[in-house]
Amino acid sequence: TGSRADRAATQVHDIGLEVIKNETGETGFKVLVGGGLGRTPIIGSVIREFLPAKHLLTYLDAILRVYNRYGRRDNKYKARIKILVKAWTPEVFAEKVEAEWQHVKDGPATLTDAEIARARSFFSHPAYEDQLPDESRTTELLANKAFEKWRDRNVRPHKVSGYCAVFLSLKPTGVAPGDVTDGQLEAIAELADRFSFGEARVTHQQNVVLADVRVQDLPQLWQEARAHGFATPNIGTLTDMICCPGGDFCSLANAKSIPIAEAIQRRFDDMDYLYDLGDLSLNISGCMNACGHHHVGNIGILGVDKKGQEFYQIQLGGSAGTDAALGGVLGPSFLANEVPDVVEKILQTYVELRIEGERFLDTQRRVGLEPFKESVYAKAA
Ligand code: SF4
Repeated sequence: TGSRADRAATQVHDIGLEVIKNETGETGFKVLVGGGLGRTPIIGSVIREFLPAKHLLTYLDAILRVYNRYGRRDNKYKARIKILVKAWTPEVFAEKVEAEWQHVKDGPATLTDAEIARARSFFSHPAYEDQLPDESRTTELLANKAFEKWRDRNVRPHKVSGYCAVFLSLKPTGVAPGDVTDGQLEAIAELADRFSFGEARVTHQQNVVLADVRVQDLPQLWQEARAHGFATPNIGTLTDMICCPGGDFCSLANAKSIPIAEAIQRRFDDMDYLYDLGDLSLNISGCMNACGHHHVGNIGILGVDKKGQEFYQIQLGGSAGTDAALGGVLGPSFLANEVPDVVEKILQTYVELRIEGERFLDTQRRVGLEPFKESVYAKAA
């Protein structure tokens, strides 16, 4: 990630890199290893606080050499960097990497300034216009509540004055999270061509970003995005879920995911309620492989199989961002038709316990799992 707000989930990957500057202003990387989800979820560990940019490839090479030599190739379930880091401890893994690095450091793969400049040339900025207004020009729309909500939730500031980044939400109620039709893909391509220098980015949260939109074009883009079903103003809210294909499509699944997502979308379709809840992530996986990142959702839902019947385990407190954490299991799992009620009780508990300005994750971390357990598993009087 190159941002302080980690949007690349770097702490839950085999290798994570955070672009930083050291105290002298030199650009380099903080290096993490051993993160991952799936059947063995682990938050990655920092093995180097600052790696000068020129050493990036040789240092990564050293990590791969260590893993290649000592990794568990005898067992496909354990053939991951995270297993080796866990077995050795991050400190020992770091020592091995540093020792290995001495063999390749300053070798032919060291990045020269010319090579970095060559690589950078492939990522040149689009032809931004100077002195664009920071406001939308269709002033009559500025008083439109629906436009305002969309702008608040789905538009982000840009480092270039007069531009912004726009999320096209692929999470309308009644559609599998992240799904688009072929016709919608054509529409996204056209919107990208007309509004964002021909570039569209897919996010790991299963949405699309138009990264370079002129602020003055927002009203026009909003109207067109709305016509194609991309303007649900729910980015970062409960219904902006990550959901895997689950049992409807995946042969590895223990349970269906998409009907659970839809039941939650339909139960919590009131935007004012979603805005009151604020930033909240809910992730769903149909089995322990965790393609839906349930471990790092503020609310995580995992499909499990119990004697041939589909059940759902709930986890709370996960995060994939800068404050990455794995969720804790709430308790015994639930039948599919119980899940929306369970989510509702969790949300009610949050609303009752939160203090001014506290996100769901902050409240859950402050009070722990217990109050949520009490509310969800309370016996009817
Ligand atoms: S989490 Fe499991 S069910 Fe879902 S897509 Fe991955 S392998 Fe399939």
